[in-house]
Amino acid sequence: MDKVILHDKQFEPFIGVAELNAAIEKVAEKVATRYADSVPLFMGVLNGGYFFASELLKRLPITCEITFVKVASYHGTKSTGTVSQLIGLNERITGRHVVVVEDIVDTGNTIEHIVESLREKNPASIAIASLLLKPEVYRKKIPIDFVAMEIPNVFVVGSGLDHDGLGRNLPGIYRIVNN
Ligand code: 5GP
Repeated sequence: MDKVILHDKQFEPFIGVAELNAAIEKVAEKVATRYADSVPLFMGVLNGGYFFASELLKRLPITCEITFVKVASYHGTKSTGTVSQLIGLNERITGRHVVVVEDIVDTGNTIEHIVESLREKNPASIAIASLLLKPEVYRKKIPIDFVAMEIPNVFVVGSGLDHDGLGRNLPGIYRIVNN
């Protein structure tokens, strides 16, 4: 793995493919154990969540469904400020065990919006699975049930994560070089 340049920023190798795969393997075992007796609905959050959703699901020896959603942010009224809307939620959620699959949880704002939208549809349960978590920055009470790797508060790309559209296809995880 060499340094890469995406737009105006330089990124250096941070987590290699083997290490990342081992972490995904471990978290997949936990997910499989938890849902051994049900048919969960995995909900990948686009764009970044496609990679982890794919890597996680191919390691799950359980019967399950996968769908994808996107979070669209727009400006509401003065009182509501920025509003997030979940788009692409076509599956029936009521009574289902839903597992939201994210690339990274940072402050937790995004995941909070998603969970609030899902709760309105009365699922049997909601769990969160994230490839990466920044515990130093996470501010919410919602438990992040399944985390492949915790990382410090650095900006990273690769394995689904982008810098302004670029870098999602990089294998492993790269971190920004501050200069
Ligand atoms: P949160 O709402 O938890 O603060 O942030 C979640 C979203 O911010 C992620 O889904 C991702 O799009 C973006 N994000 C947060 N940290 C990083 C990072 O280190 N790298 C990249 N590429 N995106 C990040």
